[in-house]
Amino acid sequence: MENKGLLIVYTGASGVGKGTIMKMLLEKNPNLRLSVSATTRKPREGEQDGREYYFVSHERFDEMIAENGFLEHAEYVGNKYGTPKEPVFRMLDEGLDVILEIEVKGFLQVKKACPDCVTIFIAPPSFEELQLRLRGRGTESEEVIAERLKTAEEELKSQSLFDYVVINDDLDRAVDEVLSIIADKKNQA
Ligand code: 5GP
Repeated sequence: MENKGLLIVYTGASGVGKGTIMKMLLEKNPNLRLSVSATTRKPREGEQDGREYYFVSHERFDEMIAENGFLEHAEYVGNKYGTPKEPVFRMLDEGLDVILEIEVKGFLQVKKACPDCVTIFIAPPSFEELQLRLRGRGTESEEVIAERLKTAEEELKSQSLFDYVVINDDLDRAVDEVLSIIADKKNQA
């Protein structure tokens, strides 16, 4: 279809700095839109409904699954997360590039449903560095941190399934690398 935007899957372990990179990507690329996911997780301090996530009950989440409202959905450390389908396709039809910040199980579903998407994995410089960052953030209990680290270790093993792996050892460089990947992909289309 003419003028269709690019779908980008953006994945990385908890604490890797995905959110910071994402903020800069959105500032630097005016054609890029972040898909707002639905989640059953409770809001963290400072998070707003409809901005970081649509915070929904487990019942509402299951209804959205039954309505076939998700492009993908998955469970992550005890909570459910999903990408509402309609806004993504609407933005792509408008020619906007849409980025999904999702975990590995969701990535696998999107890759199957939309093989033309570009997939990017954000990796930490090392697992030790990831531990430090996740603890330093102070947003989760030790129990949740331990579970997130276990999941992160698993997710790091999936890196090779992605089109690109970007190591977040230097923020500006990592942002530039993601911007170039998107620009190159657009030029090829
Ligand atoms: P957090 O609770 O830290 O905001 O997110 C936990 C994990 O869920 C992160 O890896 C994040 O990328 C992922 N995530 C956020 N939204 C979605 C979504 O809509 N679908 C899937 N599969 N994962 C998501």
